[in-house]
Amino acid sequence: MKGKLYVVATPIGNLDDITLRAINTLKNVDIIIAEDTRHSLKLLNHLEISKPLISYHRHNEEERTDGILDKIEEGNNIALISDAGTPIISDPGEVIVKKALERNIEVIPIPGACAIITALMAAGVNTRSFTFYGFLSINKKLRNKELEQIKNNRNTIILYEAPHKILNTLKDLEDYVGNRKIVLARELTKIHEEFIRGTIKEVQEKINSPKGEYVIIIDEDNEEPDNKENELNELSLEEHYKYYENMGLDKKEIIKKIAKDRGVPKNEIYQKFI
Ligand code: SAM
Repeated sequence: MKGKLYVVATPIGNLDDITLRAINTLKNVDIIIAEDTRHSLKLLNHLEISKPLISYHRHNEEERTDGILDKIEEGNNIALISDAGTPIISDPGEVIVKKALERNIEVIPIPGACAIITALMAAGVNTRSFTFYGFLSINKKLRNKELEQIKNNRNTIILYEAPHKILNTLKDLEDYVGNRKIVLARELTKIHEEFIRGTIKEVQEKINSPKGEYVIIIDEDNEEPDNKENELNELSLEEHYKYYENMGLDKKEIIKKIAKDRGVPKNEIYQKFI
């Protein structure tokens, strides 16, 4: 009989943040695949779990995936874990999950800690709708494109960032989104956990020598729509369209809104987009 692929969340700092189900799953599977086996060994030793470990990370996932899925088809149950938190979320795993499903292998999520949700739990921002961008690209062109999208996105926005890049990223965000309020969630679940709040400028002044891991949360944009409309009318039609597209509106709604913002008939805008 075929085995199953378990995607298991592990702690993001505090080792107590692991569920009973995750522990039982790791105890019962035949093999564990892990991003950095030496790193995961510390957690597994702490849980007194000893299992064959296979290293599985961004640089070998393409070549390893089929072999791992063969083992599942031979009857082994396999758990995927990452260095910290929920696999797949800015971590390896997407490739194996997609290929497992193509091969009719059952994929079972075992939920637990994730830095996005942990940060949102105490940030005090609007959580009705939010957009997660992960790490901003380091490629300048792609990064500018992402920053442009962020600028046009009025939802709560969540980003991951490494400590040595945080000041640079905050500077870029200031250039694009100006004075929006943010929360930096640092070292979540660890001894030095802290939440730093303020405008992007204020927060930059509060962190001189950044250490630890950070989640950046940009609060929802509450600026009065009247001011917003004036700003929107300074955009090109394509940028104006993109702005509403990023909010999840469909073509008909977008055209209606652009026409209203610009005070022109709907048909005039419609003609431009056919
Ligand atoms: N899969 C993980 C999760 O479930 O959140 C994220 C992995 S990603 C490679 C690592 C990034 O997540 C860090 O650079 C940081 O932005 C964020 N992160 C992870 N643990 C964190 C923590 N304890 N406190 C703050 N941010 C954390």
